[in-house]
Amino acid sequence: MSLDLKALVRTIPDYPHKGILFRDITTLIEHPEGFKESIERIASQYRGKGFTHVAGIEARGFIFGAGVAIALGVGFIPVRKKGKLPGETIGQNYALEYGVDTIEIHAGVLDSDDKVLLVDDLIATGGTAIAAVGLLRRTGATVDDAAFVIDLPDLGGASKLKAENVAVTALIAFEGH
Ligand code: AMP
Repeated sequence: MSLDLKALVRTIPDYPHKGILFRDITTLIEHPEGFKESIERIASQYRGKGFTHVAGIEARGFIFGAGVAIALGVGFIPVRKKGKLPGETIGQNYALEYGVDTIEIHAGVLDSDDKVLLVDDLIATGGTAIAAVGLLRRTGATVDDAAFVIDLPDLGGASKLKAENVAVTALIAFEGH
């Protein structure tokens, strides 16, 4: 477990908008040891702590979240964009830079006996993760932990999550935006 995971993340300037440095994890997951080690490093922090589920945020959170769920031996819950889940859902709106989006989970998938680890590829402003924590907590489940591959600390999302009593871990941090 000594790979330089940060070196496996590709940075693409001006995508999807001018001024954004897009941290592209496709190069990390395309690397067989890089992908495996990312999953194992996340999972090792949460083993034996009583988690019943991993929840991953669409879409890149599914890639890492599914792997972490398998590594921990627990079920996986997809937190999906509006209108994608076939059963009865509960949803949460959150603000985007321009406009509003909605995430959903299936109603009845969690209850107050459950303890959930939230997983996504990257935390920037934290808007998406805070909405996901709020949505998952509405089921009565305990959601006090969130794990990311990448943190952009200058954007303040991890601090905002901590203020919501969520303990945050990230494998890699990049300065700036
Ligand atoms: P936020 O809600 O601002 O924390 O944004 C988090 C989501 O947007 C994550 O699911 C990321 O996949 C994506 N994202 C935001 N900023 C970047 C970036 N600089 N590079 C890659 N993905 C990003």
